[in-house]
Amino acid sequence: MKVTEHIKNANGKTQFSFEILPPLKGQNINQIFKNIDPLMEFKPPFIDVTYHREEYIYKELENGLLQKKVVRKRPGTVGICAAIQNKYQVDAIPHILCGGFTKEDTENFLIDLGFLGIDNVMALRGDAVKSETYFAPEKEGHSYASDLVEQISELNKGQYLDAEIQNQAETNFCIGVSGYPEKHIEAPSLDSDIHFLKKKINNGATYIVTQMFFDNSKYFAFVDKCRSAGITVPIIPGLKPFATKKQLNLIPHRFSLELPDTLIVEVVKCKNNAAVRELGVEWCLQQSKELIAADVPFLHYYSMGKSDNIYAVAQSLF
Ligand code: FAD
Repeated sequence: MKVTEHIKNANGKTQFSFEILPPLKGQNINQIFKNIDPLMEFKPPFIDVTYHREEYIYKELENGLLQKKVVRKRPGTVGICAAIQNKYQVDAIPHILCGGFTKEDTENFLIDLGFLGIDNVMALRGDAVKSETYFAPEKEGHSYASDLVEQISELNKGQYLDAEIQNQAETNFCIGVSGYPEKHIEAPSLDSDIHFLKKKINNGATYIVTQMFFDNSKYFAFVDKCRSAGITVPIIPGLKPFATKKQLNLIPHRFSLELPDTLIVEVVKCKNNAAVRELGVEWCLQQSKELIAADVPFLHYYSMGKSDNIYAVAQSLF
């Protein structure tokens, strides 16, 4: 079922959902199931599975030269989605990127998803390859998520890249896109970012999931700005329980966001990471309660491979 249908059927009640990462290459899928199993108690109508593009690693050869190798550390997004749908009978939402995909790759990826009975996709541009500063699309690929959304919408109308293709079966994807309450790192301003967010909606996306934030006022202000800009689709808040001292520097750097001073002070006071984890659960719980009171359609949690703290938050709410 589509995310938008799940929202409609809930009649205003806030629902629980979460995102998982495919395991590192070499690990077993049971690792994923171990994290998902406890969270099924809270009846998530869907689970997102992230997509991780290739990385370049450089190996030093005996002659001193460097050999460039292309690796994908976390393959398996589509397989994991199929396994989740099969094991738990809930919707699995694969993330799909512009990065590393030609338009032809995208079309074939979407055809596979359609065959698997997957109704939703999260359409993203992706970041630059780790060793590069700026995002570069494939030669025959998309530069922005809005272009990717357009291709998915075209396929939903039975329009394939090859116009002469026989039997133009229509796909039927509900398309989600990302939104950034504290603006995307490359955007010159929040208004500019929201302008391009609207383009994704105009091209066919029907819901937004936000980047994580630790200060709800940022989310509420973002939603107000989106509504003023004429964006009317559901805006699902993304949340992550704070978990380690290291994240004080890592999260703002990695996700281009600010942490509230009160949270920083409390984290610094913690004696160890166990205490930070406890604090992170409490902080996230308070954020969640306020968002539920504001009637958000879903609370979407970023699990980053571990689910015990999300379990602790959800236990008091769902
Ligand atoms: P876009 O919407 O294309 O925007 C990228 C930048 O370009 C923005 O600054 C925007 O303002 C600007 N822009 C957009 N259109 C135009 C235009 N026409 N002209 C000029 N500027 C423009 N990454 C992964 O690798 N895998 C994942 O699974 C993944 N999942 C994510 C899930 C969520 C909910 C979020 C919030 C992020 C996720 N990301 C993931 C990270 C994401 O790929 C990066 O943040 C990436 O840098 C931007 O992707 P986007 O889809 O938001 O890009």
